[in-house]
Amino acid sequence: MKTVKVNVVTPDGPVYDAEVEMVSAKAKSGELGILPGHIPLVAPLEIGAIKLKKGSNTELVAVSGGFLEVRPDKVTILAQSAEKAESIDVARATEALRRAEQRLQAKQENVDFKRAELALKRASNRLNVTQNKY
Ligand code: ATP
Repeated sequence: MKTVKVNVVTPDGPVYDAEVEMVSAKAKSGELGILPGHIPLVAPLEIGAIKLKKGSNTELVAVSGGFLEVRPDKVTILAQSAEKAESIDVARATEALRRAEQRLQAKQENVDFKRAELALKRASNRLNVTQNKY
């Protein structure tokens, strides 16, 4: 089986580095599937999961937006934040989700709704990744 090298990098450092058979990501334009030999490409990403397929195993990495770059020799994902499923703190994400929901329901003038919506998306994405819900 052919493989492609994948790196997930954040401002805090590298999060993932491996050879995989397929990478899937939620781009702004829709779901992208990248196989070895894919043409060069740069795509902005949504808050979502990066799926990394190796044999019968698929690993998930939660990312909070960023860019995916396909080059002939590798795929690089530059993300604002990224966590492998096993390094996600479920209690923290649950609390972040609760806070965001409260802010969205508050209907107060001093709430930044766009910011609360993004926080809600990040938290529910992290929880989905820990529950393998993709
Ligand atoms: P919180 O309100 O809990 O800080 P957030 O969505 O605002 O959540 P971010 O700004 O996206 O957090 O991330 C800040 C840093 O904290 C990043 O390095 C990110 O990887 C990490 N991080 C955030 N939430 C979690 C989590 N639930 N588990 C592990 N790491 C997390």
